[in-house]
Amino acid sequence: MTLSVPELIVEADRCVACGLCLPHCPTYRKTGSEADSPRGRIQLMRAVAQDILPNNDRFKEHIDLCLSCRSCESACPNSVNYGALVDTARALYIQKKNIGMTIAKPFIRHRYLTHILTWSLWLTQQLKLSALLQHLLPATKLLPNIGKPIAWKSLYPATTQHKGAVSLFLGCASNALDQQTLIASIYVLNKLGFDVHVPGSQTCCGSIARQAGDRIEASKLVARNASSFEQDTPLLTTASGCGAGLKDYLPQHQVQDISTFLMSCDWSDIQIAGLKEKIYVQDPCSLRNVLQSQQAVYDLLKKIPDANIEALPGNSQCCGGAGAYIITQKFMANMLRNDKLNTIKMHHVAILATSNIGCSLHIAEGLREEGLKVNVMHPIQIIAKQMR
Ligand code: SF4
Ligand code: SF4
Repeated sequence: MTLSVPELIVEADRCVACGLCLPHCPTYRKTGSEADSPRGRIQLMRAVAQDILPNNDRFKEHIDLCLSCRSCESACPNSVNYGALVDTARALYIQKKNIGMTIAKPFIRHRYLTHILTWSLWLTQQLKLSALLQHLLPATKLLPNIGKPIAWKSLYPATTQHKGAVSLFLGCASNALDQQTLIASIYVLNKLGFDVHVPGSQTCCGSIARQAGDRIEASKLVARNASSFEQDTPLLTTASGCGAGLKDYLPQHQVQDISTFLMSCDWSDIQIAGLKEKIYVQDPCSLRNVLQSQQAVYDLLKKIPDANIEALPGNSQCCGGAGAYIITQKFMANMLRNDKLNTIKMHHVAILATSNIGCSLHIAEGLREEGLKVNVMHPIQIIAKQMR
């Protein structure tokens, strides 16, 4: 939710400066600076809103370093809406950064361009030209192995007794880079008796634009999604980062993370093959702090006979894979990721389940750089594999 200036001041005044959120803030834990803590940022936002402090580069620096992970919100005894405060500060006070956003905007707006881009990246990988591309565009090191691009149908009917209908949100990054998760989602939902609608008019959730302070673009994207999806049909997301943005800005729609929806379904007729493996689960901040539905992932994976499901130690700390943050704030993003990589090494993790494409790309890039062989998968991919 984006606030007006008076609303921002009222919400910021609700912070009683108790400091209980400080130990939960990843950036404060790394820098030790009050200005990089939730309490400090709230004071800065209020002071700038009241023209007590200038809206200058130093202010921007501290707001830019915030991951929007919203751990502070979960810890706050006064339920201060930090998410709304930081979205508003970015929209009202931060000059548009447009780093990445300027390039990304046409691709976000027009799905055919995303499709062309995905085909180009896929061909680059098929022709073994990835090293050259990474040399020219270092950000492409984030790219996983991309499957052959798919043109989605608008409806995938249930393959067993019909039990209902859902809509599936594709998401820009998932649609371009992780179509396997979307295919697995459709497969599982159809097997459970659900028609899956994939409206062709859907677009980006708006989180990248919001993070860049581009409120106008974000509002346009929200409006297009609002008219693309039926309000009375569950709207399922496979990337919790998108789910969090949709939940905040499409309150009339029934937005749910796919694992949560699946836990409300009848699984009595479904056969799942056993898997004698330990699966570690990484909780994305958006799933934990905004959608508050991380438990469903564990419950879903526990349906796999013989599998040992464990939380990745240190799950409450953000991995740094917060959307465009991995490009705009690489130093902090990598520092946070190193903590995850050390945990992964220490626990000899072989399979890591995560429900957010941002976390998955960021962690997988770090694993590749360190030469660690860990299978990073979306939980729905693991379940679908055991059902086939
Ligand atoms: S959203 Fe995350 S990084 Fe930002 S202030 Fe809150 S805890 Fe810190
Ligand atoms: S926990 Fe809440 S009230 Fe306390 S300092 Fe943090 S934001 Fe303010």
